[in-house]
Amino acid sequence: MPYRPYDIITAKRDGRAHSRDEIAYFITEYTKGGIPDYQVSAWLMACFLNGLNEEETYYLTDAMLHSGSIIDLSSIEKPKVDKHSTGGVGDKVSLILAPAVAANGVAVPMTSGRGLGFSGGTLDKLESIPGFNVNLSEDEFVRVLDEVGYAMIGQTETLAPADKKLYALRDVTGTVENTALITASILSKKIAEGADSVVMDVKSGSGAFMKSLEQSRKLARSLMKTADLLGKRVSCIISSMDQPLGRTVGHSLEVIESVECLRGGGPEDLVDLVTLLGGHMLMHARLVDDVETGREKIRNKLNSGEALERFLHSVRRQAGDVRAIEDTRKLPHARFSEEVSADRDGYVCAINTELIGTAATFIGAGRFKKEDSIDPATGITVLRKIGDRVETGDSLVTLHYNNADGVEKAAALIHEAYETGEKKPVQFQLVHEVLD
Ligand code: URA
Repeated sequence: MPYRPYDIITAKRDGRAHSRDEIAYFITEYTKGGIPDYQVSAWLMACFLNGLNEEETYYLTDAMLHSGSIIDLSSIEKPKVDKHSTGGVGDKVSLILAPAVAANGVAVPMTSGRGLGFSGGTLDKLESIPGFNVNLSEDEFVRVLDEVGYAMIGQTETLAPADKKLYALRDVTGTVENTALITASILSKKIAEGADSVVMDVKSGSGAFMKSLEQSRKLARSLMKTADLLGKRVSCIISSMDQPLGRTVGHSLEVIESVECLRGGGPEDLVDLVTLLGGHMLMHARLVDDVETGREKIRNKLNSGEALERFLHSVRRQAGDVRAIEDTRKLPHARFSEEVSADRDGYVCAINTELIGTAATFIGAGRFKKEDSIDPATGITVLRKIGDRVETGDSLVTLHYNNADGVEKAAALIHEAYETGEKKPVQFQLVHEVLD
């Protein structure tokens, strides 16, 4: 054995930089089960506290990427471009974007995650469609991608298995919010799924992992630099999570809102973000020369119904019940609802979006622990957003629930989340920056 885990832990504890071989050894051994979780936890905390430099971040991403298989998409001739979001509240962009981009002739291979804590996950949203199967084999994933133009699955056993183990450990050892570790985690999975390039939606604000713009910029730069060293193009859109995206939080509610967008409607902020990310994806695919033309092409596919057709094809192909999309009243609906009302007059100046996500979790729409089950019918309709005028007694949100246990707690969190003031705030900025 060329190294001892102990030496690698103490090197990082003492602030020394790792060599490529040290990192490759540590990740390979851990993936094989040769290093116990307690030693890896100690190393993760040392990385969290002392950081990893650019080269170490690249070595770590590369080692994690090669801890499993890389999906071979060479049989698909179209350009292959994916989008990844760093996670937020009400973020249903993938459900709308993937079919709209696919309808423009790009293959979109998408691996997604589940929600945890305040942030939602695309897989859970898809599974609120009765029958929808997110557990395709890699061969089936490639077939669906070829046939439909996009495919959506969860992380398989063989895609970046090191990330699967490390992420679970980071989650319980307080080592998630670190730029280098997040970079390696996201990029190892995204590159393993076989895309040529990725457009990243780096969320920033109270409902994101990265709360400040500075932290989000740092993550965006790290993702782009590391991807570049690995020979992949990554662009980053830094978008705001200082209020929920769109009007819904919770699984079937978000599918219904997505279907509205796929029918050419939907809330303006959501459609704006979809067209911006889509415009960049079409640039990556070299189908347009500028983002505005790309946005227009995405908008056309939403308005013409072609994106909806793709979505229906995908639902059918992944064993979902298309009748529940054609008539969304057939999706799961909660039995009860309750309005939470403003207790003073004023303008909505700020919404602590993490608290909105946590409120949704209390009424069944999220997990506090990985093992928890979710109720796909539950969630929140957001009736007031930043800049809206409210009078005492006006509804801020509607809670949709099946079990009343968490309702009181959720309502208290909503009151805590909404900040009102006398003056109308400056217009909410959805997109902070684009880094390409
Ligand atoms: N999403 C990931 O996939 N990994 C992280 O570390 C954080 C968010």
